[in-house]
Amino acid sequence: MRWTEFFIPTSKEIPTDAVVPSHTLMIRAGLIRQLVAGAYTYLPLGYRVLRKAEQIVREEMNRAGAIELHMPAMQPVELWKETGRLKTMGDTLIHLPDQDWRSGTVLGPTHEEVITDIVRAFVSSYKQLPINLYQIQTKFRDEKRPKSGVLRTREFLMKDAYSFDVDLDGLNASYDKMYAAYCRIYERCGLPYVSVEADSGAIGGDVSHEFMVATDAGEDILVKTADASYAANVERAEVAPLPDPGCDGQHPLEEVHTPSLSTIEQVSKFLKCAPCDLIKTMIFDVGGEPLVGLVRGDHEVNEAKLRKAAGVSSLAPAGPEMIEKLTGAGVGFAGPVGLDVRMIADHAVAVMHNVATGANKTDYHITGVNPGRDFELKEVADIRYAVEGDRAPGGQALEFEKCIEVGHVFKLGTKYSDAMKATFLDQDGKSRPCVMGCYGIGINRIIAAAIESHHDDAGIIWPMSVAPFHVLVCCLDIKNDEVSRACREIHDTLESHGVEVLLDDREIRPGPKFKDADLIGIPIRITVGQRSLKDGLVEVKNRDSDDVQKLPPDKAIEEVHRRVRDALANLHCE
Ligand code: ATP
Ligand code: MG
Repeated sequence: MRWTEFFIPTSKEIPTDAVVPSHTLMIRAGLIRQLVAGAYTYLPLGYRVLRKAEQIVREEMNRAGAIELHMPAMQPVELWKETGRLKTMGDTLIHLPDQDWRSGTVLGPTHEEVITDIVRAFVSSYKQLPINLYQIQTKFRDEKRPKSGVLRTREFLMKDAYSFDVDLDGLNASYDKMYAAYCRIYERCGLPYVSVEADSGAIGGDVSHEFMVATDAGEDILVKTADASYAANVERAEVAPLPDPGCDGQHPLEEVHTPSLSTIEQVSKFLKCAPCDLIKTMIFDVGGEPLVGLVRGDHEVNEAKLRKAAGVSSLAPAGPEMIEKLTGAGVGFAGPVGLDVRMIADHAVAVMHNVATGANKTDYHITGVNPGRDFELKEVADIRYAVEGDRAPGGQALEFEKCIEVGHVFKLGTKYSDAMKATFLDQDGKSRPCVMGCYGIGINRIIAAAIESHHDDAGIIWPMSVAPFHVLVCCLDIKNDEVSRACREIHDTLESHGVEVLLDDREIRPGPKFKDADLIGIPIRITVGQRSLKDGLVEVKNRDSDDVQKLPPDKAIEEVHRRVRDALANLHCE
């Protein structure tokens, strides 16, 4: 392909909203262009990359035995009512304004409902199971603040697969197959990934793993031990209980006037103690009933953990009305002493001594509080987020790293098949719900994550497997017939060997040419100039190295062909 025939609008402009390197580089290298917030055009160069990532995903899904289909982005809201997700998805679901032909139509943020509707229509016997169906389709989510370029958009490309099995053993086998396929996909895309235990969130189900790529551009936090024997999303990461530091003796309770001081910072400053010497009393609303979570002042309640510990399906922070009714005090003065309500204390609270907390009386706190003595520790559980200094359940120190979620696999169980009656007749003629799993990959995120992991100050350094072209031929003296002919020959010969070549035949100075070459990041560059060609040589250079090899054109072709093959083989792509 000749540069002058191929649209590469390299842009010097750095987007003002660019907060992560991949966003800046994708725009400057002419891969994408923002149309509106949260929606991007993939320009020709960017689209080649997107298609490559998509193809790797497709090949591995097919290899794992999944079958491709294509479902509409437009979905009837009735399906979402059937599973109750019209409510739980909340504002994320984008509704089309009602018109005759599309009353109650939403744009799909995911397709569990639609696929379950298909399976209940076509599957009736155990003989048709297991089956795994997937698509590569545009999803729509009303993300509140689309930022970080293509990492979080309102319209994005997802591969979503759904497995249907007769029982749990079947689901486990389907899940393991998808898990292995995901590992292959990220390896082939050259992504340094880790898989972690994750919280299942609004999708539901018990077991899930996220595939993460560590980068400062990420919005997720990965918690792991140095030897990676334990790794989890911070939303899910378990914390070993803290040791009991003990105390010299228990103080008596004392009420202290703390006028208008309601935050942990204000109170600890006033009482001249550290935030870790306060008990934070968080009140939640569980379907109209209050539930209290107790954590140390410097810790935060993890609602997902609390929800699990309490064995409830959903909870939300209580409103002022519920708080005032329960405590008899204004917001900010709640405490566990004398409170008659279900309370779950974090492990760290159980080993606190002589600490302070709200007095359930406006403008008052109490000091000298000893859990166990002053209030009963009926339920103690791990209900908080891990913080620096915490240890994993196995005892090793925990480390924190920012990361991007590039994929997610879930064991759904029968949540959707029960709700939508996707059943089959088993060997004994008994009707049973299909046991489901679902598996998503953000194709756009693969690209951004590849750039986040492979770039330098000058630009992108593509892994060979997803590079828009394998080789860039830089023609330095386009007006010189000999140089121009040599470039064409190298280009044509490599292409005839199946190597993807971009020929930079623009009439511009070498400086900007090399700058653009570094920016767009094609893995191998062949430079052909008048001076070296006089000596019968051209230059071969990898984007990720400063080494330059001078070779006669035919040897350069062989060498480059070998490098492309080796790079693809290293990424399991040949
Ligand atoms: P996040 O927690 O980052 O919002 P999610 O958990 O909601 O993502 P899933 O429902 O698991 O996402 O979707 C499967 C995959 O789709 C994710 O692993 C991610 O790679 C991709 N994805 C999700 N939301 C977006 C988005 N707004 N823009 C681009 N890709 C996305
Ligand atoms: Mg997810």
